[in-house]
Order: sequence, then structure tokens, then C-alpha cells
Amino acid sequence: MKTKLGLLYGGKSAEHEVSLQTAMAVIKALDLEKFDIYPIYITKEGAWVKGPQLTAPVENVEELAFPNGSQVAPLSLQKANETNEDGYDVLFPLLHGPNGEDGTVQGMFELLNLPYVGNGVLASSAGMDKVIMKNIFAQAGLPQVKYTWLIRSEWEANREEVYNQVEAELGYPNFVKPANLGSSVGISKCSNREELEKAFVEAFQFDRKIIIEEGVTAREIEIGVLGNDHPACSVAGEIISGKDFYDYTAKYTDGKSTMVIPGDVTEEQYAELSKMAITAFKSLDCSGLVRADFFLTKEGDFYINEVNTMPGFTPFSMFPLLWKHTGVEYPVLIEKLVQLAQERYEEKQ
Ligand code: ADP
Ligand code: MG
Ligand code: MG
Repeated sequence: MKTKLGLLYGGKSAEHEVSLQTAMAVIKALDLEKFDIYPIYITKEGAWVKGPQLTAPVENVEELAFPNGSQVAPLSLQKANETNEDGYDVLFPLLHGPNGEDGTVQGMFELLNLPYVGNGVLASSAGMDKVIMKNIFAQAGLPQVKYTWLIRSEWEANREEVYNQVEAELGYPNFVKPANLGSSVGISKCSNREELEKAFVEAFQFDRKIIIEEGVTAREIEIGVLGNDHPACSVAGEIISGKDFYDYTAKYTDGKSTMVIPGDVTEEQYAELSKMAITAFKSLDCSGLVRADFFLTKEGDFYINEVNTMPGFTPFSMFPLLWKHTGVEYPVLIEKLVQLAQERYEEKQ
């Protein structure tokens, strides 16, 4: 019997367009002998629109942004069974950032008792909040750069004192980031007080909570993790940013950043990295997939930077390419993720 797969894409986040590209690539890669594909498009305004079942790959991305499909209330989604023609076997949220990668959609799937691809509620929400994530990593003994955090009202109460404290604790350069975001949005590198002040204003535009980290000069190494209770690691890859740091334009627009896969790490370094990646995966109680991102300093020290619970997932993104070099092609990777979703669901029943 074919698997009825509901693909969720689009969304209210800054990554709406990326999500559409991802959906197109996933549809193209799916074997229509094995899957019935049902698109669910989330508009930029946040409306959920069900498209017709897809019987062939779509040729261009516009075809996936249904202007006149039947609008649904998200809570009307159902699990497929003998009596229910209109249900899904598995949902695959191809969504990044807040409202997609942060546990909210995952919580809805849990309430509706629907199997879904990727991380559960806890891992998704803990992974979205850089402060919570780092606190958990610290408890798991993972090496990290020094960091501190605060909420807007604490900053507004006494800005001078906050800046003084950050300078005393972390020095320069440092990085100021909104706690809950991705794609480098709202992140600044600061080399002096003036930049620090600007960076706070910027980051607080995106979140009421921010994190400030000691800046390191380091290579950026990433590793893919796949699995549920027995996660496996991909080869390591390296990001070489065309800019001072891997900011939004370096990630998406200027085309100057490159990925080196497999990255240039020794066998010992890879062993250390993959151990850290698995520790990170387990510490957040992840399932399905994560991409674990590390800093490697000139002195040879690794620090974990973050995990991304729904990493970039086009065929040209780091996570799928890491797995391709590990011997898992894109279509197989997608099937594997669907299978992991079903296994996790079965285990809970
Ligand atoms: P996001 O979740 O938006 O990807 P990151 O924390 O990964 O945010 O930061 C984005 C980029 O900023 C990193 O890939 C790296 O280039 C740079 N960066 C972030 N934190 C630091 C740091 N503490 N030291 C040096 N570079 C950093
Ligand atoms: Mg991130
Ligand atoms: Mg990152």
C-alpha cells in the first residue's frame, strides 16, 4: 500500500521561499509508486491551503503556491485509516524557524495523533532557543564558547551596566543574537561599544531574549545526524564563508560561501566530532535528524555552536549533501526520514 504523505511548506517565516524550493525538490525525489503526495501550503499570511494530490513532479515553484485551493483549519488534519479517505499516513513539515521548527507544529501533530517527520516538541523547541540549548549542552559536558543572556526589560532598566558586564565577561569580539531564530537573522559581530549598542537594538527587534557569546576565530565544521534511538553520523563538512562571518547574505545571496565535503579533518578529529554530535542529539532528546555545527579553532579545540532541528533540506544544502557523501542519496534520505517518523509513532502507541 502506498504511503499518504502530507507535505507542509511555505509558512509565515523569512524562509518561505526556501521552503517552496525544498518542497519542489522533495516532490521530485519521491517515488510515486510508493507515495501519494498531498501538498499543504502555508501562505505568508499563515493560512493553510490544501492542494490537489500530486500525480507528477511540479516543474516550477509557483505551481506549489496555491492561490485558490481549499483552505483548511490546521486542526482538521486526520490520520488515514480504512474509513477515512481524506487522511494522512505521515506529515513532513518542510518548514524552518519559528512556527515550523520550534515545536509548535510538532505539538499540533501530537495532539492530532499524526506521525510526522523530524524532531518532536521538546527537541524542536529546546533547539530553537539558543539559551536553553546551550544550557542543556553545558549540562551534557559539551565544550562551548562563553555566553550570557538577558531579556529586553533587564536591558531597558540599565543599559550601561549591561554593556559593562558583557564587556567584562566576554570582551571583544563578541556575537549578539536573538535567542529564537536561524539563518543568521538579527546576528551581529561586535568589536567595540558602539557596535555592541547597535547589535542589542537589532537583536531585540526579533526577540525579547538575546544571547551574547565570546567570538572565536575558527573553522566551521558540520555533521549530519540521522536516526531515533540509534542515531548515526554523516561525514563532516566544512563551510567556508565568503564573509567575515556566515551571515544571512553569505548563506543565501552572495554565492561566495562554499561547502567542502568531506571536510578536511583528521580521523581523530572526526571521532571526537561525531561523539559530540551524538551527545548533543541525545541531550536534547532529538529524533529523525539534526545538523550539528561546530567551531574548530587554530589550537585544535572543538566547540559546539548549535544544532539545527530542521536544517536546510534542498538537494544542495549541507545536510543532504553530507548524507550523499556518506552513501545516502537524497530520495533514500527522504524515505529514511519517513520511516523513522513511522517507527517513532509506532513505538508510542
Ligand atoms: P543561526 O542559528 O542563525 O545559524 P549561529 O549561532 O549559527 O546562528 O550564527 C551564525 C554564524 O555566525 C555562524 O555560522 C558563524 O559564522 C558566526 N558565529 C556565531 N557565533 C559565533 C561565535 N561565538 N564566534 C565566532 N563566530 C560566530
Ligand atoms: Mg541555527
Ligand atoms: Mg548556524
